[in-house]
Amino acid sequence: MLIGAHQSISKSIDLSIKRALADGCECLQVFVKNNNRWEGKVISEEEAEKFRKGLADSGFKVCAHSSYLINLASFKEDTYIKSVKACNDELSRCDRLNIPFYVIHPGSHVGEGEKKGIRRIADTIDRVYEGGYQCMTLLEMVAGQGTNIGYSIENMLDIIELSASKDKIGICFDSCHMFAAGFDLKDDYDNVTKELFEAFGDKVKVFHLNDSKKPLNSRRDRHELVGKGEIGEDFFKKAVNDARFSDILGILETPVEENYKKEIELLKSYREC
Ligand SMILES: [Zn+2]
Repeated sequence: MLIGAHQSISKSIDLSIKRALADGCECLQVFVKNNNRWEGKVISEEEAEKFRKGLADSGFKVCAHSSYLINLASFKEDTYIKSVKACNDELSRCDRLNIPFYVIHPGSHVGEGEKKGIRRIADTIDRVYEGGYQCMTLLEMVAGQGTNIGYSIENMLDIIELSASKDKIGICFDSCHMFAAGFDLKDDYDNVTKELFEAFGDKVKVFHLNDSKKPLNSRRDRHELVGKGEIGEDFFKKAVNDARFSDILGILETPVEENYKKEIELLKSYREC
């Protein structure tokens, strides 16, 4: 597994690569615009070129994470239109920046029911991909809080099955979310990962490496530092040495005092070869 972290794009997106280098990352995740706004500032051609060159020079693999406002399952006209627009904007930014993967939480049905929500997500992805993007969308496994969709293997397979853009959809794991959703990565690693790989195979591209403040099946999403939470160190040792994850981007999302350096070192120290 490549080990990296979610890096800030503050001031200029190309600085995220410098930050990743300073932390000892082997890969990174970024937002492609302010994650709490619908509209983002335009990335200048100079900035985009610096980012692309930084990627090429460092050899980093990279993924983007979507804005938190987007809900692909929304049935509210206003939110829906804004979500489709923002998703198009972010995917075109990814293409421009040579980012091959775009991670997004599948969406929330907000009372309309899971079945309807799942169909809505598949339809929305198809609508967005009418834009003809290169970048692949990775549906992130979630903890299953509220009416969020994407907490189970079935949810994800149903979305993929209903979509006409299947080859553009991949999967992003998140150890914290999955543990909270009932995947026992702590005491049943072998069976759980076997089931996941049988279902998703090479669609798995990114693994968010977060420990969990909340127990198994709590359905609550609270990130904790590696080894300091309910999942514990053993899981991370197994994951970084798991051959099935060798090409996958392992991404830390819980900064230690805004500095991932220590956690990256810790994860690297778990490597057996
Ligand atoms: Zn995550």
